[in-house]
Parts: sequence; C-alpha cells; structure tokens
Amino acid sequence: MSDNTSGRGCLWPMWDHSSIPTHEYCGKNRTDGQSYCTEHYARSVRTSEEPKVAFVPRKLAA
Ligand SMILES: [Zn+2]
Repeated sequence: MSDNTSGRGCLWPMWDHSSIPTHEYCGKNRTDGQSYCTEHYARSVRTSEEPKVAFVPRKLAA
C-alpha cells in the first residue's frame, strides 16, 4: 500500500481565513488516523459539535 502522507505532520492551516494562504501548516505529529495533531483535532471536533447559538427559552411558563 502506498501511503505517502504518513510522514507529514498536522495539516491545520496556520493562516487566517482572511489572509492570503501561505500553505504553512502546524506540522506537529498527527493523531492516529487524523489529519491534525491532538490539539488541533480537539479544536476541529469541538468546533463542529458545539452549537453556534445556545438554546435559550424565550419565556418560561408563567
Ligand atoms: Zn496541529
């Protein structure tokens, strides 16, 4: 099997969304089976799982 990506590090982009892409990545050791290191993998999971707006009841039954 060819696995030419196994030697590469974390692929978390190090530039801002508004910036011109520099194609510089974090480069730390990746988590098994993931494209990111432990820290950035946790960030990517948390970002996708957290609701953007917390549910707040408008009015409790009075
Ligand atoms: Zn990283």
